[in-house]
Amino acid sequence: MARYTGASCKLCRREGEKLFLKGERCYTHKCSIGRRAYAPGQHGQQRKKLSEYGVQLREKQKARRFYGVLEGQFRKYFEMAAKKKGITGETLLQILESRFDNVIYRLGLAFSRSEARQLVTHGHFTVNGGKVDIPSYLVKQGDVITVKEKSKNSPKIKELAEALGSKVIPEWLDLDKENLVGRVIGLPKREDIDLPLQEHLIVELYSK
Ligand code: SF4
Repeated sequence: MARYTGASCKLCRREGEKLFLKGERCYTHKCSIGRRAYAPGQHGQQRKKLSEYGVQLREKQKARRFYGVLEGQFRKYFEMAAKKKGITGETLLQILESRFDNVIYRLGLAFSRSEARQLVTHGHFTVNGGKVDIPSYLVKQGDVITVKEKSKNSPKIKELAEALGSKVIPEWLDLDKENLVGRVIGLPKREDIDLPLQEHLIVELYSK
């Protein structure tokens, strides 16, 4: 399946929630969801009562869109989570949070997950000293993430570094803001993941 290349704000309006897909704009009055709080399309303003399946489907789509993951990959993550010990929904979120693009975003080294994906693909970061340019790479406890020396001079990285002062880093990560070195202290617990997701609905959907 091809990656969605349409307007990001339409996805938020479809889910009825801010998915923070556009970085800084999401925190300003320009955010579309405040101005047009209804689903896109001709029938977007009609209220529809969703079936149980519809509710579960929307929750899965919302999770996919938060993390920018395609359906096939998302299902693989679910299958990985289902094989692990523990609560499947929580493990699923833990896997999604461990994606390299998400970690870069959480560290404040990108303004949005989609920007993080782009910066990763362009090879601006290393993990444990080796270049990693795969957004879906799953980080592990103890991994050390650095911005490449050459990349520190890029205007985008400089802009991001300047904005780090006020950035709150989640407890499972650590960032040396001076040297732009991140560390994965542990894997996130459910309470560390601040997304409005009801992961049990996703598990119910895939368990049918
Ligand atoms: Fe979503 Fe951001 Fe667009 Fe607002 S500005 S609708 S949060 S992508």
